[in-house]
Amino acid sequence: MPDSALFVQQGVDQPPVVNPKASSFYKRNQAPVHAAQTYIDGIRSGNLSLLSQAITLIESTRADHQRIARKVLEACLPLSGNSIRVGITGVPGSGKSTFIEAFGSYLTKEGHRLAVLAIDPSSERSKGSILGDKTRMETLSGDPHAFIRPSPNSGSLGGVARKTRESVILCEAAGYDVVFIETVGVGQSEIAVHSMTDFFLLLMLSGAGDELQGIKRGIMEMADLIVITKADGSNVEKASLAQALYQNALHLFPPSASGWTPQALTASAIEHRGLEEVLQKIRDYFSLTKANGYMQHKRREQARYWMQQTIDETLRDRFFKHPDMERLLPAYEQKVLEGKLDSFAAASALIQQFDAS
Ligand code: GDP
Repeated sequence: MPDSALFVQQGVDQPPVVNPKASSFYKRNQAPVHAAQTYIDGIRSGNLSLLSQAITLIESTRADHQRIARKVLEACLPLSGNSIRVGITGVPGSGKSTFIEAFGSYLTKEGHRLAVLAIDPSSERSKGSILGDKTRMETLSGDPHAFIRPSPNSGSLGGVARKTRESVILCEAAGYDVVFIETVGVGQSEIAVHSMTDFFLLLMLSGAGDELQGIKRGIMEMADLIVITKADGSNVEKASLAQALYQNALHLFPPSASGWTPQALTASAIEHRGLEEVLQKIRDYFSLTKANGYMQHKRREQARYWMQQTIDETLRDRFFKHPDMERLLPAYEQKVLEGKLDSFAAASALIQQFDAS
């Protein structure tokens, strides 16, 4: 009998797998922790296993893991920044994973090295996942020139986003020259993805109105390119119609500071059509924004944003994880709920006690 608390209930039949994700999660967490230099050297030489383990350290909440992760990040920073960072979003069912699989394979055939990361907004509440990671992107998973990493699976959206942003740095240091960051088109997570990518790709279905797709105007406004997916079979005509519709809608938005005019295209991931055009648009965008200085400007702005976000998150964490605050918070919340104390007075009293502790 293994020496583990999981086996104390002798005689009770265990289901074969309680949580299919658990075994890989524990396996990842059980990898021996090396010195920072081992990860740094490994990442530089493109060692996938060490890259993966270093990302696990970034995602870990353990202080000793975080210390190593910081050192690795610092060493990787000067080697980063050389990739094309593309945010990809769309509602569930819009064809994101199929598109990434097809487009990703096309890119690696073109000689690129691709990292696919994700920000799953559902992880915060349910620890479940909208994006899922099971059997998605099977071909790409086996592609030696692609690295796929599912969303960090715990913590606030801000925390998850920061970890992903840091993972981008490690992937770039490992030589990936294209980074995709996938998310679901439902709200806050796009803003996070937009704040760490150069180019924002929105996948849309034809035939369903925006309302049905739950895409907010603000998300459309962030898009550098809209791709109408599944433009094959009986859907070709509908897709062209949708393309014209979105192309018109895009014209109504104010011109972007990048100097780029967002466009709408159609593609079929299953028939591998339209992928070349998508790549061409991305390349055009890069030529334009590199030449006019917008890309550098945007990345600097993003760096400032992430500094602020990191301060924000660190302070929040420190506050909410402080033992005194954990003890006092429920009583204050109760008073606010009962209308016995106003929210500002409660916040101010708690912050005073935090400052004094
Ligand atoms: P996601 O939830 O956005 O990741 O969407 P999926 O990639 O899982 O695709 C949702 C469904 O649409 C699946 O049943 C796919 O087979 C189908 N699908 C995806 N891309 C295409 C395409 O290019 N053409 C057609 N006909 N179906 C597609």
